[in-house]
Amino acid sequence: MPWYKQTHWQIILGLVAGLVYGIIAALNGWTAFTTDWITPFGVIFINLLKLIAVPLVLGSLITGVASLADIRKLGRIGGKTLGVYIGTTALAIAIGLLLANLFQPGKAVPPEVRDGLMATYSENASARLEAAQNVSERGPLQLLIDMVPDNIFNSASDNRNMLQIVFFAIFFGIGLLQVPEKRAKPILDFFHGINDVTIRLVDLIMLMAPLGVFALIADTITKVSDGNLVKLLDLLGALGVYCLTVVFGLALHTLGVYPLLLRFFSKMKVFKFFKGIGKAQLVAFSTSSSGATLPVTIECCEEKLGVSEEISAFVLPLGATINMDGTALYQGVATVFIAQAVGMDLSLADQLNVLLLAVMASIGTAAVPGAGVIMLIIILESVHVPSAGIALILGVDRILDMLRTVTNVTGDCMVAVSIADSEGQLKVVSSESTEDKIKWEK
Ligand code: ASP
Repeated sequence: MPWYKQTHWQIILGLVAGLVYGIIAALNGWTAFTTDWITPFGVIFINLLKLIAVPLVLGSLITGVASLADIRKLGRIGGKTLGVYIGTTALAIAIGLLLANLFQPGKAVPPEVRDGLMATYSENASARLEAAQNVSERGPLQLLIDMVPDNIFNSASDNRNMLQIVFFAIFFGIGLLQVPEKRAKPILDFFHGINDVTIRLVDLIMLMAPLGVFALIADTITKVSDGNLVKLLDLLGALGVYCLTVVFGLALHTLGVYPLLLRFFSKMKVFKFFKGIGKAQLVAFSTSSSGATLPVTIECCEEKLGVSEEISAFVLPLGATINMDGTALYQGVATVFIAQAVGMDLSLADQLNVLLLAVMASIGTAAVPGAGVIMLIIILESVHVPSAGIALILGVDRILDMLRTVTNVTGDCMVAVSIADSEGQLKVVSSESTEDKIKWEK
């Protein structure tokens, strides 16, 4: 197939075109035109992806659990998955904190720039402070309570409840294992059918991906620059050391730590891994939401990397909801940055506290754009750094959000491959096409 017919190249073209259009639009102040005529295609693309996330997770997880035929195996896979997720997240924050201490980004901000930013973004910050207030008023076990729904239809009506849907699907799958096969079969067949249809729907939605990505990137640039590109470039310059610290940390984690872990936990070649998940990374970058990217992440892991459905259906929805290495790394850098900018020094104990809190926060962070900032406020308050300081970073947050979401999604895929390999459930994918047959490796 010529390169320009391959979906990932078309998405890259969409992305570059969106970037070029966004810059031209920002320079010419085409904000209203972009909002009216370009943005809707991005919204439709994200909506379509979100639309199939719940049926996809329900279908694949219920059939996945029911085919395990062994509850102990489920416990083993669950334990391993959680362990690796938490371990890699802690490592990510440690990298963020280390780099922030090394580069001292907060000390590079001149006081007049700091005061200007605080004044400009304080209104914007207060809405987020309110949202964080609601989160922090909850008890320590609220996370567990949140996981267990009292009505599955309520949970399925909001994509933010993915953890509840995961819980229900596992619970239902376990129930299915315990009824006579004759009774269970029609239900299983039904969910198998749902699963097959949603996977096909992902393929159909991806036909729109180049246009969707174009619209999303164009919209982001126009919104972030607020019709004034020079202002955005000034801001990037003023916060340059901070942005570079986050970007460097994310690159180190994504291109250094993950390949190392992949070599350690799996036989898969690093190049094959990155090539296989390219589409998911592009969608993550343009949507800034690991939740919306989930259907594409599942598709890439199963069809390009050969992760079995049983593993991907369990590991990936869980990862999209609780595993946010990129977010955690950024929270580490941002906490130290804001503390330094307002003239505070964080002790080692404070920083260890940040590490612990950020691991928990990343579990509670919703897989949607900008959710990381809300959890950041809670971290800041726990170490007594003024949370209004988020005003300093809000102007560039969307750009960093795009990058940290790529890391979040890459981490989920890395764990899916590692767990699948350790369970003998990594298949050899014979070629690139989705229609290609898959052969079992073990
Ligand atoms: N946008 C991120 C995600 O969906 C969360 C965040 O860091 O704000 O993965």
